Amino acid sequence: MKLSIVIPCYNEEKNVAIIYDAIKKLFNNKKVAYEMIFVNDGSKDQTMNELKKIIDKSEANMKVVNFSRNFGKEAAMYAGLKESSGDYVVIIDADMQQNPSLVLKMLGILENDENYDSVAAYQEVRKEGKILSGFKKLFYKLINKISEVEFVNGASDFRMFRRRMVDAILSMQEYYRFSKGIFSWVGFNTYYMPYQVENRANGTSKWSFWKLFKYAIDGIVSFTTTPLRIATVLGLFISFGSFIYFLIVIIQTCICGIDVPGYASLIGIVLFLGGIQLLSLGIIGEYLARTYIENKKRPIYIAKEVLNSKKK
Ligand code: UDP
Ligand code: MG
Repeated sequence: MKLSIVIPCYNEEKNVAIIYDAIKKLFNNKKVAYEMIFVNDGSKDQTMNELKKIIDKSEANMKVVNFSRNFGKEAAMYAGLKESSGDYVVIIDADMQQNPSLVLKMLGILENDENYDSVAAYQEVRKEGKILSGFKKLFYKLINKISEVEFVNGASDFRMFRRRMVDAILSMQEYYRFSKGIFSWVGFNTYYMPYQVENRANGTSKWSFWKLFKYAIDGIVSFTTTPLRIATVLGLFISFGSFIYFLIVIIQTCICGIDVPGYASLIGIVLFLGGIQLLSLGIIGEYLARTYIENKKRPIYIAKEVLNSKKK
């Protein structure tokens, strides 16, 4: 098998047939052995029924991995990579926002240049609101400052890999998967290919601002322990500051005697320190909680069934 195309689907009942047709058309007169791997990520609509209809009639090599519940896109991508057998593997969204014809371009880049092991499509201009893209920019600035691996702003999950890179990604078994970090953590050379995001064919995006925020925290906690360091440094500074302040108070008392002003500043300092302590505890908690979950070594996903098309 030359190329595996991994398509994570969550509530994409109206889109799966469209992308299936688009991919089939794309390879119609080309001599490229390919397979499509649809991962149904616990959809609550008719996505699975649609996929069953397609696979029954499919003239192309096709696989459907049906999750027992919604495990998230990260898990769906992992499952797709795991089920893939191609020398090259590409991940593409089911909603047609990423033009399937670009897959051929990606394949061309990897075939012609041995130096690259992956091609990542990235948006030069984000097609979103100013506020959201502003927040995303801020996130990338922050995470690149505090983490060792590089995160490229605008780079999507629309990527093609050579087999050896797929195997490297699969060797990372963590439960909290932040793919953008994993893809750069494993190394290899990535070619960044600019592309235009299209409009969704049908349905709506599954990413709310809150979900993105949680995802951002996951990314930071997964790829850097700098926040813990910040808590330590902050503690050191505050201890040092209060020591100096204590000395000043002693000297002041010796010279001027005791008086009791400063109720407001006292409350201010107590609340401020309380806040810092809670924040530091929270940061420790974030890491501890993940350690706890990772330690359980739960599977990244559970598949109810894996269907294969008859045509081989
Ligand atoms: N997706 C998934 N599981 C989820 C959420 C999304 O498999 O829990 C899939 C979804 O079906 C789509 C892709 O991930 O194929 C990207 O999702 P979406 O279009 O909602 O994200 P956006 O394009 O808005 O970033
Ligand atoms: Mg989308």
